[in-house]
Amino acid sequence: MILSNQVRCNHCGEEPWSAHRHDFVWCGCPQEDTRVAVDGGMDYLRRIYGKNADVTDMSITLNDKLCRGLEEAMTDKTKNDLGKLCNVVRFLRDEMDINVTQREED
Ligand SMILES: [Zn+2]
Repeated sequence: MILSNQVRCNHCGEEPWSAHRHDFVWCGCPQEDTRVAVDGGMDYLRRIYGKNADVTDMSITLNDKLCRGLEEAMTDKTKNDLGKLCNVVRFLRDEMDINVTQREED
């Protein structure tokens, strides 16, 4: 599943993202040859590049099993909002090997 359809244009620094299937969004480059566009929202990842475009893909995709697990963590009716947040961070740690613990103050 596509959760975020987005790139960073390494020329202008903008990070256009496509919110839905026909949401076609260009970066802010004034020159056509460096410009990039994203399209497709959560349905498909489509890119249009100028011939000198330089992009970093920032899209987030997740397989169906992990998506379902996160949805269940967020919609657990036995928990209040803090309990649901705890569910989500435990799921990230235990099922996705992502520990969000901050060990230092920012
Ligand atoms: Zn750009």
